[in-house]
Amino acid sequence: MPLDFFLFAPPATLSATLVAALFGLLVGSFLNVVIHRIPKMMQRESDNYVAQESGKEPPHTDRYNLMVPRSACPCCGHQITAMENIPVISWLALRGKCRKCKAPISARYPAVELLTGVLAGVLVWTFGSGLAGLATLLFLFLLVAMTFIDIDTQLLPDDLTYPLLWAGLLINLNGTFVPLQDAVIGAAAGYLVLWAVYWLFKLVTGKEGMGYGDFKLLAALGAWLGWAMLPTIILLSSVVGAVVGISLIVFAKRGRDKPIPFGPYLAAAGLIALLYGSGISARLAGFVAGA
Ligand SMILES: [Zn+2]
Repeated sequence: MPLDFFLFAPPATLSATLVAALFGLLVGSFLNVVIHRIPKMMQRESDNYVAQESGKEPPHTDRYNLMVPRSACPCCGHQITAMENIPVISWLALRGKCRKCKAPISARYPAVELLTGVLAGVLVWTFGSGLAGLATLLFLFLLVAMTFIDIDTQLLPDDLTYPLLWAGLLINLNGTFVPLQDAVIGAAAGYLVLWAVYWLFKLVTGKEGMGYGDFKLLAALGAWLGWAMLPTIILLSSVVGAVVGISLIVFAKRGRDKPIPFGPYLAAAGLIALLYGSGISARLAGFVAGA
């Protein structure tokens, strides 16, 4: 059996795409928990560590992870039942309010679910339901979680960037997306490029333009898509960043000096590059050659 069959077959069908979209909706619901809890888990761990170092009792002793405790309304503590936890539909049925206390539930929950579901469908439609398509789902899920954690906290947790990096190297062991050599160089170059920009910016302005998490995220994207895609990713993230940044300043009247996290733009650029990168790169190369 040829390797291509294992990687990309069975071919993309409408039913596989719909199954992927439904799966994406369900995972999106779990990602809402991940987005909410991972920063809290990191904070608790660091609080406990600080207390322990100074010989005090750790402040957090109750179990708190992605599974425990069960999701509850932050307003009244009402435990979310299975019926109230159906992606998108429950939020619509409850008209965006807690069933018990009528406190508003953020529209971001169904938005994350819908985004994850739609993109999961697009990826399986494009890459098939073999190993390559399933791998792109992992790529998507980790990027969605990172995007919203970065928006909330200006942090990209190592617990998410490193698995994405390792997964990118492993999936390319047999050259699923790019040859392994391109993946390894992509990971190192991705890190170094932003590291260099960071230090240059710091030397010139005395400010920190981005965080170490951004270097790790671009390293991970380099591992998945190869070093040759890095210029396209950086260009795309700058374009997306400029468009979103300017609209936030113009429409949301957001202050110009308020830090805007870079992670979401890198994540969006990574997804666009995975889907359309080869076409965009070819055009860029043509443009550069023609100039
Ligand atoms: Zn409530």
